[in-house]
Amino acid sequence: MASTDAPWTATELREIRDELQSERARAMADLEITEADLQGLLRDAGEGTGDDQADAGASIFGREYEMTLAANSRDKLNQIEHALERLDDGSYGVCESCGNPIGKIRLQAAPRATLCLTCKTRQEHR
Ligand SMILES: [Zn+2]
Repeated sequence: MASTDAPWTATELREIRDELQSERARAMADLEITEADLQGLLRDAGEGTGDDQADAGASIFGREYEMTLAANSRDKLNQIEHALERLDDGSYGVCESCGNPIGKIRLQAAPRATLCLTCKTRQEHR
């Protein structure tokens, strides 16, 4: 049970922080690549003569796809930043909805989690 977890040790917290920081580096790299692709697509679209319907359709699809990827990367980055802030202010590991401990095993598997499994499940089924 989550409530019977031992308190976080300094080593465990450092491991979580390391994990979040490397995730942040990866997410930032992903976002950079995606945004560069998106810039390229927008530039190509601007230069297009518009006489090829198939190409136009493909580039709109590509642009939407890249925009979704960029939004996902930004979301992920925000979540990582948020988790790092919570590590700094000592609120890390507490469910943001009910205030119960999230549970070490869950956090070690998903360091960005801000909700306990109960609240997370409830949110997903809403
Ligand atoms: Zn909760």
